[in-house]
Amino acid sequence: MSSPSIAACFPFKRVKMVSQTVHLECQRPGTVIRIEPDKRFRPVCHECPEAGTVHSGPLRRIVRDLDFGPAQTFLQVEYRRAWCARCGKAKVERLDFCAPGRRITHRLAQYIYGLCQKMTVQDVARHLDLDPKTVKAVEKGFLERDFGQTDYAGLRILAVDEIALHGGQNGYMTVLLDQTTGRVVWMGEGRSEQTLDGFFEGMSSAQKGAIEAVAMDMWEPFIKAFRRHCPQARIVFDLFHLVKAYGEVIDEVRRDEQKKAEASMGKVLKGSRYLLLSNSRNLRSAQRRRLRELLDLNERLNSVYILKDQLKLLYRCRYPSWARKALDLWCELAEQVDHPLMRRFIGRLRFFDYGILNHCGYPIGTSMLEGVNNKIKVIKRKAYGFHDSRYFTLKVKQACPGKQLATKTG
Ligand SMILES: [Zn+2]
Repeated sequence: MSSPSIAACFPFKRVKMVSQTVHLECQRPGTVIRIEPDKRFRPVCHECPEAGTVHSGPLRRIVRDLDFGPAQTFLQVEYRRAWCARCGKAKVERLDFCAPGRRITHRLAQYIYGLCQKMTVQDVARHLDLDPKTVKAVEKGFLERDFGQTDYAGLRILAVDEIALHGGQNGYMTVLLDQTTGRVVWMGEGRSEQTLDGFFEGMSSAQKGAIEAVAMDMWEPFIKAFRRHCPQARIVFDLFHLVKAYGEVIDEVRRDEQKKAEASMGKVLKGSRYLLLSNSRNLRSAQRRRLRELLDLNERLNSVYILKDQLKLLYRCRYPSWARKALDLWCELAEQVDHPLMRRFIGRLRFFDYGILNHCGYPIGTSMLEGVNNKIKVIKRKAYGFHDSRYFTLKVKQACPGKQLATKTG
């Protein structure tokens, strides 16, 4: 019968376990396992597969490993410097369970990464009695491995928008989404034309040429960047953003009308109930004029509201010729509202009409990014050190991998 041994739990190559001490009585129960090089093997350079000769040593380092029962487990590792002929210098020898200079084993790091997908960095740090900085660094390393590269494969239809990270002009990030899968492809700091250059710079011309359409807000830096990098891509303006921009017109017109109403309160509003309820034929000419003033106020506001619904209908058109007619009609009606902000809105609409007409061929919007935005809010609330925009980007990419598309096999 063999005696019980925990050595099998530490199946590390080219080293041997020489002793184990356990401290269970103290506040933090722990075990220390001493590990030494197995002299039967020559030390291997940690940067290349070259086996060298022992140059100097021993060096010692304490490395935290996975907990063992109730005990935190520390490896007291003895290792050497190897003379590497290929590198032409002395290098720390490779340990298959721990990276050079690191204070935790590979398997503990892997465990931390797994926990970080369910828990906050602070919770993981507390759970394992580690520094949050260590936990974050470990997680970031794995995230960089898994999500650090921009995957441009299969991109055809995109959506781009900005997100506000924190207050101020510099608090924006640009998010680029694959409309087909819902995957967050890329994120960059800022919301300028140059910001998007960061997305395009890693793309081949064939990949750029494969982009058919992109949904966005009427934001010229983004429009310019796409025009420059993917001139063939159809730009589609998002309905939600358009209606939101129109909301500012509504607000302004209402405020305007209110002001007017307040200024002429005595004249127009006083006794208006009588005016509205009376048969206009019974009114004297002065009263009739007041009624018309009152109705005019309402009419203007009413028109603005009706135009909002009409604006949404533009996005129901299936053919560009219909959309063009509907757009022209809309602008004609809107002109009658006769308000500076409305005139500006009409100007923008005419200037950006292509992005509305393109919706017929590519009925897309940025609403998928709203879902991403909700996930981002959660990450922002939970993420330790989300001011590190790289780490934040990686977390968002991890949270928004998109749905897998069926791929052909065989
Ligand atoms: Zn080497």
